[in-house]
Formats: sequence, C-alpha cells, structure tokens
Amino acid sequence: MSYHPSPIKTDRPPDYPLLQRWSGQQDVIVNEHVSPVFDKHAGWRIVASSDIQRGHILCSVLKASVFSHRTAALSNHLALSPEPDAAEHTLYLAACLLHEIRLGQSSEFWPWLQVLPRETIPLPTFWADESICGQDGREALAWLTGTEGEKELKRKDSEGLALDDVKAYFETISSLMPRTDTFDTAPSLADYLYAFSMVSTRGYVIDAYHLIALIPFVDLFNHSASNHTSLASDSCVCPTCGSLAACEHDTGDEDRIAHLSPAYVAQSQAEGNRVDMRAERDVKAGEEIFSCYEEDVGDGKLLVEWGFLGREHAGSAVSWGPRDVLDADIGPAYMAIVSNGEVYSALDDLKGIDQWVHLPMDPGRFDVRHRGTLCLNLFVVAYLRALKSMPDSLEDLERGILDVLRLVAGKGKATSLSATSRVIDTLLAEKLSSMRDEGIGGEVQDASRSIPDRPLTKMARTLAQDERHVLERVISKWRSLI
Ligand SMILES: [Zn+2]
Repeated sequence: MSYHPSPIKTDRPPDYPLLQRWSGQQDVIVNEHVSPVFDKHAGWRIVASSDIQRGHILCSVLKASVFSHRTAALSNHLALSPEPDAAEHTLYLAACLLHEIRLGQSSEFWPWLQVLPRETIPLPTFWADESICGQDGREALAWLTGTEGEKELKRKDSEGLALDDVKAYFETISSLMPRTDTFDTAPSLADYLYAFSMVSTRGYVIDAYHLIALIPFVDLFNHSASNHTSLASDSCVCPTCGSLAACEHDTGDEDRIAHLSPAYVAQSQAEGNRVDMRAERDVKAGEEIFSCYEEDVGDGKLLVEWGFLGREHAGSAVSWGPRDVLDADIGPAYMAIVSNGEVYSALDDLKGIDQWVHLPMDPGRFDVRHRGTLCLNLFVVAYLRALKSMPDSLEDLERGILDVLRLVAGKGKATSLSATSRVIDTLLAEKLSSMRDEGIGGEVQDASRSIPDRPLTKMARTLAQDERHVLERVISKWRSLI
C-alpha cells in the first residue's frame, strides 16, 4: 500500500551527507559515534557506531535552527492569528512546512526537508476518508471501536484536530498560500495533509516562544518505552523574543526563571539556547538509540499520534475516564478517599496485592495495565458501587476498603469481596462487549491475513486483540474471587 507522495521535488533518495554539511553550518552538534541509517521501507534509525557512556551528548541543536512558525518562510506572507489555540498552531505549522517544501531547494531548510518521509503517514485521523487510506482505513477504523485508539481519536476531535477541522483550515488558507518557483499553482489538500502528518508525528513542544517545532536530526530518532534518551529544552523562555535570560519584555512580576541558577542561565545564553539529547544510560556499539516521544504512553495513543504500535506493554492497556465510572452517588466519597490518601499509602504494606492492584498516576486515571493489574482508583470505585449503604465516617469507609484489599491479597473469600469483584467483572465485561468481536470480524480477519496490503487493518486489529487479551485475563482473575 502506498499513500500520497510528498510534494518534495527530487529524484534523489534522502541524502544524509547533505543534511550533515548543513547541520555543521547550523552549529548542530552530533556525537561522532551516532550514525543515522536509512532503509527504504523502515525509514531512518539512529545507531551507535561505538559504545556511548551515560551523560554524553548525543546531539544538540540551536533553537534558531529548529523549524517552527518563528523560523518558517511562510510567516513573511501569512501570519498566525493573534490568539491561536494549540490546534491552530499545529494547522498553521503544517501550512508553514508545506510552503517550505514548495520553495524546494531555495528553502534554507532544504537539506533537512529532503530527508523527510516521502509519503503521507496514514494516521487514524485520516482513516475514515477512503481517498486517503482506501478501504483498509475504513476496516481499520471499525477495529478501533471501544479501544484506547478510539478514545484517543475522540480526544483529537475535542482538541479541534479531527479530519474535518484540518480540511476546513486548509480551505481558509489554500488561496493565500504563496506561489513559488517550483509550484505555480495553489497547493492540493493531499499535499497539505502530507505536511499535517509530518507536523503531527515529528513535532515537539519545545518552549513558550517556538511552541511546536520540528527539529532537524532529532526527528530521526525512533521511539521506545525503554529509551536511551529524550529531548531536553528550557521551555520557560520569553514568549515574545525567546530569550532565556531576563529581557526587556519581562515586567518584573513573573518568576519565569526563578527556578534556574544565574550561572545556568548565563551558560545557556552563551551557548545560544539549545535543545539537547543526552545518553540517559550507556549505549552499546551497534544498538539502535531510542528516544521517548512521551513518557508511559500506551499503544492507543502511539497509533493515533504517531501512526504505529510499540507493543512494549507501556502505559494503560485499557482505561476509563472519570465520567465513565463516577456518578453523583459515589463521586463525593471517592474524592474524600483520594484526598485523604490513607488507602493509597497503606497499599505498599499489603504483601501480594501488587499482583492485583497498582497505584495510579493521578486521581483521574482509571486503568488496567498489561501485567493484569487494576488501578486502585478503579478498585475504590468498584467498592463504593458495591456498597448497600454509605458508612457514616470516612474512617469506617477506609477501614472497609482496606479489609477487602487484605482479602484480595490473601485470596480470601467474603461477601464484601464478592460484591466488589462482581462490580469489577461487570465493568470490564462491558468494556469487552463494546469492542469488535473476533467472531463477527472473522471475515475481515481472514481478509487482512491473506491480503498483505492491509497494514492499517492489521495494526488496529492487533491493538484490539491486545486490549481484549488483557481484559479477559483480568476478568478471569476477579471472577475467581466472586
Ligand atoms: Zn523577551
């Protein structure tokens, strides 16, 4: 399956030495033991040519050399609206990138542009449109039903980055896009979607001045949950001029750099304000060096934001939002238990409970992890839902929850545990039934197996299957306690 080709006008394959020469002129520092390797099918990966010790710099890029709405040529022709939201930033930066590509070799970013992927990344945002992702996209979308992928897509919609939003934005700017020596016609929607897919998958929020930026060289690193490095950038710069040090735009009231030492600020200013990637652990010669696009990110989000599955069992396997599990009956009691924290701090002392329950990252997260555990928030919700009447005091309530947790850890049986386990069972089973059934999808499954040209269906089906397997495992565990 191939997707819309990039508007980059060149017959030559990606030329790394060209990027390297340009990077040198831009004062981009790249560790001499760091080598990009290109594969026609898999794209770029960064490999260590010798051992690299923890703490050593892998690459460092001047902020003046990143591609953002501040450095793009389009900003001379078409301005960003005065108070843009995050979605508009993304949409405008995609227009900037498209214009830069249309400038061809006369763009100062050309040496970097020519190593970008040469096809649109078929993100789930595009799947509903057959003209972009074919029948494969539609089938894939059906497989996302009830999964974390569907939840992430809904989040994008609510942020104003649904496909209709992207198309509507392009409508408003297409006639305003400047003609260039290489392109004397208005850009096509397909070309804009290519640029949008690049910004979506390669953009980083770096600071208050550039906001989202694509960073030459840094964008060649692939993601892993067990990464060697991640991007470091001082984000607290002046939003007007980008200075980290105090500047004429500071009113004196802000504590923008109060948390940084004066020596650090002076050094950063002297080095020209950079984004850095350091080895956060030792790297062996021959190893691919991975970055981390986002901490603790699950496959649903990886698929929607970056267009691939990690299958590293990071992040939540399946999750619920507060609105899915809390209501007016149990909401106040839930909040009281969370803010008091007694139940949460007692969890560490319960031997064996870590096979069943994990501590949540924050009070608003209700999830099941890949190793088959339920987050404590979800357990508390189930306990509250199973109660026939609310105890008079918070103390009694907490004591009751801890009693049941003790039973879980000791695999004991009691009516209170049975009732809580039954609620958990129902909650998880409901989730399972909202997902596409393997049996119903049998034909699709066979089709995607026999037709190798359905990569999107294959990814979405894999995500659904992974989530289904975790749910089934957790359900059978809690069912044994009923
Ligand atoms: Zn300033």
